[in-house]
Amino acid sequence: MKNNFITCVGAVSKAYGPQTANRNFRDKMLRLVLSLAFAFCGSAKASDGAPDHSGPSIRVAIARNSPPIKLKTSVKTYVNEVKTGRKYLLLANSSYEVKSLGTLSILVANQTLSSPIKLSSEDGSEKLRLGGNIYKGAILIRAGPSGGLDIIEELPLEDYLYGVLPVEMSPSWPLEALKAQAVASRSYAAKNINPAKDYDISNGAEMQVYKGTKGINSRILEAVNSTRGEVLKYKGRLITAFFHACCGGRTSSAKASWGEDVVKPLEGVGDPYCSDAAHYQWSLHVAYEDLLTFIQNSGSTALKIKSIRIYKKERSGRTATLLFNTDQGKFQLSAGELRKRFGSNSFKSTYITHIKEGKSGYEFYGRGWGHGVGLCQEGAKEMAARGKNYKKILKHYYPGASITDYEN
Ligand SMILES: [Zn+2]
Repeated sequence: MKNNFITCVGAVSKAYGPQTANRNFRDKMLRLVLSLAFAFCGSAKASDGAPDHSGPSIRVAIARNSPPIKLKTSVKTYVNEVKTGRKYLLLANSSYEVKSLGTLSILVANQTLSSPIKLSSEDGSEKLRLGGNIYKGAILIRAGPSGGLDIIEELPLEDYLYGVLPVEMSPSWPLEALKAQAVASRSYAAKNINPAKDYDISNGAEMQVYKGTKGINSRILEAVNSTRGEVLKYKGRLITAFFHACCGGRTSSAKASWGEDVVKPLEGVGDPYCSDAAHYQWSLHVAYEDLLTFIQNSGSTALKIKSIRIYKKERSGRTATLLFNTDQGKFQLSAGELRKRFGSNSFKSTYITHIKEGKSGYEFYGRGWGHGVGLCQEGAKEMAARGKNYKKILKHYYPGASITDYEN
């Protein structure tokens, strides 16, 4: 299409005419899997709550290796080529396609720009809609290493926490539990800030879930604001403050779970607080055929499983390895692999207490939900319900850690 460039304030600035004016171009557009609308609101607030533009900021990958996206503008929008400093203007109330061209360039409305690009609005207020979520930080779009787009939001750490808290813990839970979660999540995020990487943290359950401004309410704001800047440190260094849904009576050590160099606060503790939680105990039926296929895919030549037993346990009581007795001899497998294969929401933990053979498969019985390292959310909820404050909760789950200001 022919672009309708206009000059605006600043060096080498151009404006693209909206592609909505060109039906042929639109018809050629690739099918968009992600629908992205770029709309601006009147307020410059970074979140629905108290704006916070001080303190550290964090870069969150809100989409990775994305297919082409559709960008809708409601006000004039600047596209900045980061490398050259060139600035382009997208017209208001228009629709533009953005897609990756290899790893060096990005196509915006049929114009090739060098990657990465930064989006900003004419009045400085931003609001990005992506996958049903709204993001209010600065947006960087990069041609990713696998050929798709990486979309990264940069925002103040405190604003980021407003978005993490409601999806990582129910906003209806006791305030002191929410405050403990806020400090844990802040520490975890701060520990991951690394300018040498393309982004600091991803937005999925592999790190901590973040969905922009979704679910923010007054209790979330209070939990974050009243613990503002507070992080967990051990011997002056930030700890990776892992957390999980329910430990099942004893938290695991980071070393046992991931082989990390463990610091005292992440060695694991006994937990008397989560025993009434719904996920304190669980059971799962796994079909015989599925287990046989799984061990065959893992390298076993077995045609028949005779029995399964817990072979090695970690100090916390979680199962490290299982022993399959088969027609071809004994075969060992890590419990973590089994959990991964049968789904961490069904096979809730590696805290397996016993295994029972049934007619069509095996019944696994276990305790807790999640990896079990660090703060047990169900336990934190119960501690708060019993009147313990967030500092007591954190000291229980991260023994030896100090609660200190981020800057200290
Ligand atoms: Zn627990």
